Amino acid sequence: MQVLKERILSEGVVKSGNVLKVDSFLNHQMDINLFDAMGEELKRRYKDEKITKILTIEASGIGIACIVARHFGVPVVFAKKSESKNLDGDLYTSPVYSFTHKKEYMIRVSKKFIKAEDRVLVIDDFLANGKALIGLFDILNQSGATIVGAGIAIEKGFQGGGDALREQGIRIESLAIIDEMGEDFVKFRD
Ligand code: 5GP
Repeated sequence: MQVLKERILSEGVVKSGNVLKVDSFLNHQMDINLFDAMGEELKRRYKDEKITKILTIEASGIGIACIVARHFGVPVVFAKKSESKNLDGDLYTSPVYSFTHKKEYMIRVSKKFIKAEDRVLVIDDFLANGKALIGLFDILNQSGATIVGAGIAIEKGFQGGGDALREQGIRIESLAIIDEMGEDFVKFRD
């Protein structure tokens, strides 16, 4: 998606440890018009699929998922990363290793909100090694829901998570795929 690639080139900052900082438009300050265009594009790509729910993970997936969900007209469920008194009843859980925080944590989704008859699109801001998506897919498999696919804003293709999931037959649509990046350059997959 050209407009997203241009924003990455003009505002993205490559940090050490293969981290791309895009906090001026994606995951701190959020450009809602850009999110809306991403929703339009994901709706176009998934137009032939029936989707009943969007699943994402807190925190930075939530903003994008909400705007994307307007295009599909379905609710958003987000996996929670911490225990809370408000999160009661039966839960699906899965351990996820965080790329940015370098530690493992549990993600939790109430069984009330994902059912076997759901057809779910998973949304996230970044795809790197694929651990967040694997955890979300694990929760969907536990629920018996159908995994329609994933919609990702930025995939760091060189970290391999996306291609490994595609090889398993899972549909992964990423709006910008970075094949290489360094201190002063970002190279996109065609
Ligand atoms: P994965 O689980 O695929 O290794 O990493 C995906 C998760 O880590 C995303 O939910 C995202 O929040 C975070 N992440 C991975 N790489 C980056 C990055 O380069 N920049 C930022 N801002 N977040 C990242």
